Amino acid sequence: MIGLVAATGNGRRNASHLAESWDDVRLYEGRPGEALRRAWGECDAVVLFLATGAAVRLIAPLLEDKHTDPGVVVVDDAGLFAVALCGGHDGGANSLAHRVADSLGATPVVTTASDGLGLPALDSFGRDLGLRLEEGSDLAAVGAALVSGETVRLVSDRRLPLGPLPDNVVRADGLEPPLLVISDRTTEVPRPAVVYRPPSLVAGVGCSRGASAGEILDLLGASLAEAGLSEGSVAALASIDAKRDEAGLLEASEKLGVPVRFHPAEALAAVETPNPSSVVREAVGTPSVAEASVLVAGADLVLQKRKSAMATVALGRLPVRGKLMLVSLGPGEEALIPPLAREALAASELVVGLDQYVGRVRHLLKPGARVLTMPLGDEVARAEAAIREAGAGGAVSLVSSGDVGVYAMASPALELAGEDVDVVVVPGITAAQAAASLLGSPLGHDHASISLSDLLTPWPVIERRVEAAGLGDFVVSLYNPRSKGRDWQLGKVKEMLLAHRPPDTPVGIVKDAYRPTQRVDLTDLASLRPEEVDMLTVVVVGSSQTRLVAGRMVTPRGYLS
Ligand code: SAH
Repeated sequence: MIGLVAATGNGRRNASHLAESWDDVRLYEGRPGEALRRAWGECDAVVLFLATGAAVRLIAPLLEDKHTDPGVVVVDDAGLFAVALCGGHDGGANSLAHRVADSLGATPVVTTASDGLGLPALDSFGRDLGLRLEEGSDLAAVGAALVSGETVRLVSDRRLPLGPLPDNVVRADGLEPPLLVISDRTTEVPRPAVVYRPPSLVAGVGCSRGASAGEILDLLGASLAEAGLSEGSVAALASIDAKRDEAGLLEASEKLGVPVRFHPAEALAAVETPNPSSVVREAVGTPSVAEASVLVAGADLVLQKRKSAMATVALGRLPVRGKLMLVSLGPGEEALIPPLAREALAASELVVGLDQYVGRVRHLLKPGARVLTMPLGDEVARAEAAIREAGAGGAVSLVSSGDVGVYAMASPALELAGEDVDVVVVPGITAAQAAASLLGSPLGHDHASISLSDLLTPWPVIERRVEAAGLGDFVVSLYNPRSKGRDWQLGKVKEMLLAHRPPDTPVGIVKDAYRPTQRVDLTDLASLRPEEVDMLTVVVVGSSQTRLVAGRMVTPRGYLS
C-alpha cells in the first residue's frame, strides 16, 4: 500500500489524481505530520506532496532502518518533480518516483549513485536469480569502488545469467579485492568484498517419525561445515512423500526459509545411490531417502549421507541454469518495440539475430553486451548458438522482427532447448497486425495467416490451406508472398481465392510496415498484380464480408447489422 500525504490545495489535487488512477494507494487526510505518522506504520511507501525541506523535517523522527522503513517520494507543489528522497532501493522509492512522475507528467529525480550511472545496486544485485547477500559484506567500500570506476573483480564459482556488467567489473578467478564473490563455498575472501550466496544447493533429508527440527538443522549445519558450504546457498530441502506432515522437517524448512520438495518412494527407489540401506527400504519402500532426494531433485551429490540419531542429510549441487529470452522486436518502428523487449535486451549479455534486426536495437543494449549476427537462412545455427550460450549459464536474447513466435525463431529454438535453461518469450506486434492497422480493420473477424514460402512447406500443403481458408471465408494474411525465385505462387493463390469470393473483395498490400520505406496500397482481388508484390510485403485478402468504408478496409464483426 502506498500512502499519500498532502498539505496544500495543489498537493491535494495531485494526490487525488493518483488516488483515482491507482488502486494500491490510500489518501491520509488531516495535519501532514499526524497523517504521515499513520501512513508510516501502515504503508510500504509514502508520497509526500510537500517541499523537500518540510518532508525531511517530518520524516526525520520516524526513520529507523533503510531496509525496513517505507520508501519516501516527495512531489513539489507545482507537480514538476517526483524526488526519491529515501528508501531508493529496498523501500522502492526509486521505481515509485518513476511511477509517480509518469502519472503526473513530472520528472523523476533519483540520486542514488548506482542508478544514475547505470550500475547495479549491490544490496539487491542478482536478486532475480535468487542471490542472497551475505551478512557482513563490505557494501559501502565495494560500492564506493564501483561508483568511482575502480576495477572490481567478480569471482563466481560458476557462470550465471547476470546480464551485462559495467566496464569496471571484471570477471576473474583470482581473489584480489575489491571483490564481488558469488559462491556457495565458505572460503575466506580478502576484503573489501561483497559475498552473494547463489541458490545452488539442495539438502536431501531423511528422518524417523518425531525427529526434531533442531536435530535436522544441527545435522545439516554439520554437513555443510564438513563440505565447506554455506547455509545461505541451500535453495531447498528434499525428502520423501511420506514425510509431508513431518513436523520437525517442516519446521526446519520454515526456519531456513526454503521449501521442501517431496518425491514419491518409487522415484527415489529408481535412482542408484552410494549408500543404500535395506532397513530403510523395508520401512519406506526406497533404499535411500536423503541421497536419492538429492539426485531426483536434479542435483549432483557433493556430500554423501551423514547420520544423527534420528535424521540423515546428503548435499547436492544443482546444475547452472542460463536464461534464453526469445524477443519480439515488432515490425520496425522504435515505438512499437515492446517495453518487455527493451527490458530483455538490457538484461542480455549476448544478442543473437539477423544483422538488420540487431542493428535496430543496438542502442537498447547495455555496454558490455555482445552481439552475434548471422545471415538469413542460418536459423538453426542461430538458435543453436543462443542455446549453447544460455546452457553455459549466460543471459541470451534471440531476436526476431514482428512476433518471435510467428514464422520466426521461437519455434526452432524451443524445439532444441532443453529443461536446463529458463526461457522467456516476449510477444510482439506481427507484420499482419501492423499491416492491418495501416489498412483499417481487416482482421475484425476470423482470419488466417498463410506463408507462401514453399522452401520448408511443400506447395500442395500450402494449396490445401489456401483452399480451406477460401472455403471457410477467412480473411487471409499472406506472408512471404513472393520472391525472385518464387514468382508464380501469389498468382495461383489469387485464382484459388477468386473461386470463393467476389472479384471486388478488398485486398491490402503493405510493404515495410512501420519502416521509413512503408507503402500501403488498397486494391481488389481481381486487380491484384502479383508482380508488384515482394518479400517485404504482407498481402491481406478480405473475406466475402470485408468492405471499404471511407477508404478504410473493414471486416465487420456484426455489431451494426
Ligand atoms: N516474425 C515476423 C514474420 C517473419 S516472416 C512477424 O511476426 O511479423 C517474414 C515475412 O513477414 C516477410 O516475408 C513479410 O511477408 C512479412 N513482414 C515482416 N515484416 C514486415 C513489415 N514490416 N511489413 C510488411 N511485411 C512484413
